[in-house]
Amino acid sequence: MTTFVDRVALRLAAGNGGHGCASVFREKFRPLGGPDGGNGGRGGDVVLVVDQSVTTLLEYHHSPHRKASNGRPGEGDHRAGAHGKDLVLLVPDGTVVLDSAGEVLADLVGEGTTFVAARGGRGGLGNAALASPRRKAPGFALLGEPGEARDVVLELKTVADVALVGYPSAGKSSLISVLSAAKPKIADYPFTTLVPNLGVVTAGSTVYTMADVPGLIPGASDGRGLGLEFLRHVERCSVLVHVLDCATLESDRDPVSDLDVIEAELAQYGGLEDRPRVVVLNKVDIPDGKDLADIIRPDLEARGYQVFEVSAVSRLGLKELSYALAAIVGRARAERPQQEATRVVIRPKAVDETGFTVTREEDGFFRVRGDKPELWVRQTDFNNDEAVGYLADRLNRLGVEEQLMKSGARAGDGVAIGPEDNAVVFDWEPTVAAGAEMLGRRGEDHRMEALRPAVQRRREREAQRDEVSREYRDFNPFS
Ligand code: GDP
Ligand code: MG
Repeated sequence: MTTFVDRVALRLAAGNGGHGCASVFREKFRPLGGPDGGNGGRGGDVVLVVDQSVTTLLEYHHSPHRKASNGRPGEGDHRAGAHGKDLVLLVPDGTVVLDSAGEVLADLVGEGTTFVAARGGRGGLGNAALASPRRKAPGFALLGEPGEARDVVLELKTVADVALVGYPSAGKSSLISVLSAAKPKIADYPFTTLVPNLGVVTAGSTVYTMADVPGLIPGASDGRGLGLEFLRHVERCSVLVHVLDCATLESDRDPVSDLDVIEAELAQYGGLEDRPRVVVLNKVDIPDGKDLADIIRPDLEARGYQVFEVSAVSRLGLKELSYALAAIVGRARAERPQQEATRVVIRPKAVDETGFTVTREEDGFFRVRGDKPELWVRQTDFNNDEAVGYLADRLNRLGVEEQLMKSGARAGDGVAIGPEDNAVVFDWEPTVAAGAEMLGRRGEDHRMEALRPAVQRRREREAQRDEVSREYRDFNPFS
């Protein structure tokens, strides 16, 4: 049994950034050289790219877990780790990318259109890059950032030029097979056994695609049958072709009321009103069919339809039909705005890159959200005190401590940095700068005793910083 896969859920994982390296240069007669740990490499992105030769999502159905490669860790002697390779996933033209909540992330139309679905993690800085006049030989490096993990759903909206609609057994599949058989490209289009059928038709110098919408029955637009599922595939078509069965044996049906029923379904679905219509009266190889076609033809033409009498079996009238459709498709293409060769879809950033927020949660702890604090936490090796101190410094400099203070946080309160399902939680221990503000006067906090060495180090650092800013102030023409 073949199933048509037009919707597939993927679990994507970008590559992790490589860890930075903490290393110290060693040489004979020079026991301690400078720090020479290199940076970790960037993790590979997962990138979706439209490729015309890809026509189904079948491959992803078989293997929905995809991961880009990790960045390599940095090494001593200033050697940076290699970047992870991007994982490029080729998708058919017309693939829509949704997140797991059903929100559209990207609508990929046009050869080469590119979408970064999961971003690789940044590599961690090595201790050479972390060295500064204040911190001459850092005994730590930053961790690589984990790559983005992302669940997405891919939906294929076939970009067919011509959509065949009609009751089951009207002859849609037969028509596609005989019309597109003129120049068999079946090998390139492996979906001919799949549903909906898609074919490539060549008429003169025009090449166009044709899709049929199976299971379009009364009630389809309400989700009955498969019609609704497949109507998605015709949303982008240039022309709708009503295939009417002139040889139906069902007594309660006739071709014209069939057309009315289908039109009612299309109207229910909506959005296709502007598309030109063509009527095909099929099965005129059967004498009764030919008679019926002759009877209803004037009625349909009076309604303004262009009408073709054909037979998928005897191939009567197919040439005229394929050329007439080519003309309509050609006109539609000429009217369509010219598309750039390659479009890159950029996913908007969810959070303000520079900002952060502090909120007080119900259970009494404080949550810090923001790209920078969350990244910094991920980069921190919590087994290394110096690395933790560096994190505290960074947070302080960004103003996180000050904001915590303003929000009412006190020493010992729980602070969570990151989202609910992935946060680093710790007891807050204000640094001196923040603590001083809280206590009014520096040096009277009983915690100082225990913190002495750290405090001294920080004071020195602060003194240096003050000096720098004072110099800056002296220099600043605007102050
Ligand atoms: P679909 O459901 O609209 O895709 O219809 P199919 O293409 O599967 O055709 C349904 C039936 O009608 C099949 O048994 C076909 O052989 C038959 N059929 C299709 N076109 C013609 C035609 O032009 N003449 C005759 N006599 N039978 C046809
Ligand atoms: Mg069919």
